[in-house]
Amino acid sequence: MSDTLLAGLASRLGPRGLLTGSDAASAGWSSLGRPIAIARPSSVEEVVAVIRMCAEAGVPVVPWGGKTGLVGGANADGAVALTLERMNRILQVAPDDGVMIVEAGCVVQTACEAAEAQGMFLPLDLGSRGSATIGGVISTNAGGNRVLRFGMMRDMVLGLEAVLADGSVVSSLTPLIKNNTGYDLKQLFIGSEGTLGVVTKAVLRLRPHLPSHNVALVAIDAFADVIRLMRRLESRLGGQLSAFEVMWKDYYRLVTTAPARGRPIVPLGHEYYVVIEMLGGDPAGDPGRFQAVLAETLEGGLIQDAVVAQSRAEGAAIWALRDDGEQVQRDGPIAAFDVSLRLSRVEPFSQALRERLHARWPQSRVILFGHIGDGNIHIVVGVDPERADMRRQLDEAVFGLLAEHEGSVSAEHGIGVDKRPYLALSRSPVELDLMRRLKQSLDPGGVLNPGKVIAEA
Ligand SMILES: Cc1cc2nc3c(=O)[nH]c(=O)nc-3n(C[C@H](O)[C@H](O)[C@H](O)COP(=O)(O)OP(=O)(O)OC[C@H]3O[C@@H](n4cnc5c(N)ncnc54)[C@H](O)[C@@H]3O)c2cc1C
Repeated sequence: MSDTLLAGLASRLGPRGLLTGSDAASAGWSSLGRPIAIARPSSVEEVVAVIRMCAEAGVPVVPWGGKTGLVGGANADGAVALTLERMNRILQVAPDDGVMIVEAGCVVQTACEAAEAQGMFLPLDLGSRGSATIGGVISTNAGGNRVLRFGMMRDMVLGLEAVLADGSVVSSLTPLIKNNTGYDLKQLFIGSEGTLGVVTKAVLRLRPHLPSHNVALVAIDAFADVIRLMRRLESRLGGQLSAFEVMWKDYYRLVTTAPARGRPIVPLGHEYYVVIEMLGGDPAGDPGRFQAVLAETLEGGLIQDAVVAQSRAEGAAIWALRDDGEQVQRDGPIAAFDVSLRLSRVEPFSQALRERLHARWPQSRVILFGHIGDGNIHIVVGVDPERADMRRQLDEAVFGLLAEHEGSVSAEHGIGVDKRPYLALSRSPVELDLMRRLKQSLDPGGVLNPGKVIAEA
């Protein structure tokens, strides 16, 4: 059966359109499994053909973007992987309308640069910006560093085009900000990790280019003051606070000591270090205002120390500390979690987590950092490579405690397969049932990314 399918796909997609055998072996951040082939369509018509032919042959289709997902959502074991890499064009940037239209395989950074070239700003910023694609960030409802001000992908997508499991094309490429004409169908495809449709194009909302970048690193000794500082900045900076990233002291020590390239820009010895970014439109006035507000908080004792970047290079050096997440792996294998809580629960949760993990594994290392403005923390725990069962026990300990604190088991990375066993900790039985009914009604044959997000009925 699969030989007939592969011959049909090869003939429909042409010489560059299908990779099989050793050519289909691919590398990525996530676990990709062993696809029986990689389809590389170059148009929406070819996407339709791949889906129809695979559906007929009873072979699943797994959409691939930049393969930077971290929860196994792009695992294509025994399936045809459908990569959008050839559908990567910027179709239009329209500054007057404040939108751009792109194909789904366009890399995030390329889209951001195309917007900037027209004096506009696509405010999505995440560590994987050089590889993740627009289709991938839509399908995972990605967030990143500036959610605090500009929201997640749900807030940046005005319209999209997607191919359903039966091969029909839903073309909702509207550039309208206000469009209350019935169900908001695009939302079905945002964050559904390729299980309801393959996103092929999107209309993205742009903002005007913001020329003034102001960055600071501050040190704080009490978590309550971290929250107070954020609220103060939101108010005093008049809505221009764009990022508020917290590094707990263990993370800061790792990224500022050898073999890391970074050095302590603010001295070690404090409990929390916060990267603050204000983006504005007044390069002459903004820096003075930014510094004055921070000086006020220093004098008032809300922060203990601060360094304000005096140039783009100094700002980049501060951001490089926050972005040097690879350091968390330097002392051995780790398990990483991406969770969210309401802000008032973050500190009680993290203290209880340390206690619980240390009681069970006295040597365990627990490192925290995250997009705290959104209540999103990344938890990294050192694991004992000798104990194969530790990962599952850790998952249960972390997610169980999270449920007690009414948090979400996935803040950004999605569910994929890795978090599927824990979805019920964050969603009610009625919500899960509705998700299953949606999947069943749009994809009764289980063609699109089956087994991801929710288990098959
Ligand atoms: C260093 C690093 C930093 C990261 N930082 C962040 C961060 O700050 N915030 C954040 O949210 N995530 C972050 N991530 C996770 C990851 O980059 C995001 O989940 C991203 O959105 C995935 O995009 P991608 O193109 O790589 O998609 P892939 O990994 O290829 O796919 C992800 C999922 O989307 C589906 N999919 C992909 N393309 C399509 C399409 N066109 N139509 C339908 N389904 C599709 C796939 O089947 C899969 O289920 C980070 C990852 C890394 C490696």
